[in-house]
Amino acid sequence: MAVAEVIVDVPTMQTNRPFEYEIPDSLVEVVIPGVRVEVGFGKGKRKVQGFVMEVRDHSDFTGKLKPIERVIDVKPVLSQEMIKLSYWLADTTYAFQISCLQTMLPNVMRAKYKQFVVASEGFENDADVKKLLDNQLTLEITKDTEEQTLRKIAKLKRAHKIDIEYVVENQANSLTRQAITTDLNTDQLLEAKDKLRSNAKAQHNLVDFLLSHHDDLPIEVSNLENQFKITRATLKTAEKNNLLKFIEITKRRKPVGINPERTSNLELTEEQSTAVKDISDSIVDDKSDTFLIEGVTGSGKTEVYLQSIQKALEQGKTALMLVPEISLTPQMVNRVIGRFGDQVAVLHSGLSSGERYDEWSRIENGSVKVVVGARSAVFAPLDNIGLIIIDEEHEASYKQDDNPRYHARDVAKWRADYNNCPLVLGSATPSLESRARAQKGVYKLINMTKRINNHALPHVQIVDMRNAENSAVKGDFSPLLQDNLWRVLKRKEQAIVLLNRRGYSSFLMCRECGFVLKCPNCDVSLTYHKNLGKMKCHYCGHEENVPHICPNCKSKKIGFYGTGTENIEKQLNEIYPDARVLRMDVDTTRRKGSHAALIEKFSKHEADILLGTQMIAKGLDFPNVTLVGVINADTTLSISDYRASERTFQLLTQVSGRAGRAEKEGHVIIQTYNPDHYAIKDAAMQDYETFYKQEMYLRHQSGYTPYYFTTLISVSHQIESQALKQSFWLKKQLQTALSDKAILLGPSPTMIARKQNKYFYQIIVKYKHEPELHEKLMEILNDTQGEARRGFSIAIDNEPQHID
Ligand code: ADP
Ligand code: ZN
Ligand code: ZN
Repeated sequence: MAVAEVIVDVPTMQTNRPFEYEIPDSLVEVVIPGVRVEVGFGKGKRKVQGFVMEVRDHSDFTGKLKPIERVIDVKPVLSQEMIKLSYWLADTTYAFQISCLQTMLPNVMRAKYKQFVVASEGFENDADVKKLLDNQLTLEITKDTEEQTLRKIAKLKRAHKIDIEYVVENQANSLTRQAITTDLNTDQLLEAKDKLRSNAKAQHNLVDFLLSHHDDLPIEVSNLENQFKITRATLKTAEKNNLLKFIEITKRRKPVGINPERTSNLELTEEQSTAVKDISDSIVDDKSDTFLIEGVTGSGKTEVYLQSIQKALEQGKTALMLVPEISLTPQMVNRVIGRFGDQVAVLHSGLSSGERYDEWSRIENGSVKVVVGARSAVFAPLDNIGLIIIDEEHEASYKQDDNPRYHARDVAKWRADYNNCPLVLGSATPSLESRARAQKGVYKLINMTKRINNHALPHVQIVDMRNAENSAVKGDFSPLLQDNLWRVLKRKEQAIVLLNRRGYSSFLMCRECGFVLKCPNCDVSLTYHKNLGKMKCHYCGHEENVPHICPNCKSKKIGFYGTGTENIEKQLNEIYPDARVLRMDVDTTRRKGSHAALIEKFSKHEADILLGTQMIAKGLDFPNVTLVGVINADTTLSISDYRASERTFQLLTQVSGRAGRAEKEGHVIIQTYNPDHYAIKDAAMQDYETFYKQEMYLRHQSGYTPYYFTTLISVSHQIESQALKQSFWLKKQLQTALSDKAILLGPSPTMIARKQNKYFYQIIVKYKHEPELHEKLMEILNDTQGEARRGFSIAIDNEPQHID
């Protein structure tokens, strides 16, 4: 008997164990690894979706196996590579395999479930149950179900009189469209036209249409109707005349975007050429080396990426390139498309789920050779990968904050090993981890120290905001920065002003009593969502209307204590009334495409000053920018995280690199209250190596990454004392598996101690070599499955990017 090992998607319970199902004879040929199936689960008629991981010809199980009910996919949605990767991912991120599998696939492939209430065995005739079900066998729970009914359901559930069953909702395949095509070539069409009756005008016109659009076939029927006014009746007649046929096509929603001009290879500098050669050698020799390109801003890393990708394509292979966030790096995406055109697929968060599915299919069926995308693109179903690139590899956005808590760099390394291809990490400010690995020879270090055309690095000045002259100014601009902005404007050049902010939120505050509008469930302030016109909680989704009177003191002076950028914009307008200022922050970039539009505007010199938050620091290349001003360099220094200095150094170096990228010399002015801090001083010198040494020394002293591994375990419960109790139990469990060399910190409440009505405590484990830790954590994870139903949840985060 053939059996399949299936990872099931059970909404209320997660488990890493695959379940065995019998493959009915009728399905033997279609149940293969990587397809999705529908299976029964538990008692009753509960049907869930699952992924077939393995197929075997016998089972060791002696009881009766349930059969596979239905096969969802005609061909596997998971390759062997992806199946293997899911095991590794679940193991290393302490996530459940089902969430790993779902993370790898586009959203539309996620099962949707309907919930039904059914009577528990023996309670079919219970009066309360019968009343709830209204004498029917089941009651569907929907979003319209009334609260009163929900309460009754909860009560009967607690009394074990009813069960909730989940049934997979069969999604209609809304992605296919009807289209027409023809088997006739143009000569045959002409011949057919001659045979048509002369009064069959519509048919004559249709053949003419087919002739002139022969290369565009197949064409969607709806397009023919709407755009070309060809009726369905005409098409039907033509089908009978054997002129055309109807087919189903998957609609391609080509993401909108400007098509950049095609570019060709630049002549490489010596440094670039060495880099391309080293990487190409690994591609050709199928070696899974990891390269770290440490290249100053403007050293031409992108050209190295492009020519290396080309090498992979020449070898008949594909290439994967990750960027921190597509919307923040439109210039990079354009460069890749400019070089490789239609062979490129771009995966970004702005895509609708349908568009995403389309891009995924194009990659999966091999019509795409190069994929560019943010973090999750690391799971792109590319086959035969010859090169993986991670640009700005130090960016925190490569780590997912949610389950599975993976780092794209680790997944990329796994895929590079699987595909025997090199992995290239690039940055002007590599993460300490990566730079340390290069130090040890685990990664191959490629240094690019010169700017293209030997442009000088920008001239950086640090302004001490504590001194008398600067603290005397009314606004936020020091005399030096003011003066230099004048000069830039006079020379008709451009400037960038960075306002370094801690978070991204704009919240509501009363200027009379200091009241801040907070979420009733969480300990955080609600943030304003412009498109909703409402205040919303980031954590639990709670939303409410914007109050116009302070709920606390009834004052009308309640307003947005925004990002601060608006205020800075006002100051700029007052000092330079004739200057055109573009503001780029969460508020001005909320709409899809608005970020790219602002960048486009600035690059066409339709504005003189680009004012913005962290989002302007990355990857932008404006040749006319000769001045960068940083308003408050210190903000990121004050975050309570051991990566604070590293983040500050990275930000300042990156933003400084925006100045003087072309012929004109660049100038950077950094305003700070900590002028002697090494992160600020080294960034001013664009001196990564000095910063690296100093920071490594301090990390060594305090026992942090990369000298120690860090694992963060957080526990949450609705009742604070329970959360605390559970975290102490957890600490004790951990102690049994750890040597006395490991350092255990906590439990301590997290910075936002309460979210979604739950209290959070965390434990930090710092260690060098603890062979028993992994297994212990796995054990804890599985043990707490039962606890999860009692309201506990636990999250394990390896190498967290933030500790808060
Ligand atoms: P990085 O990513 O290292 O900061 P870029 O790749 O953006 O640097 O390159 C900086 C500028 O130099 C870009 O405008 C790019 O087009 C140009 N450039 C790169 N390589 C060359 C080359 N070999 N010859 C001429 N110009 C180049
Ligand atoms: Zn008030
Ligand atoms: Zn909330």
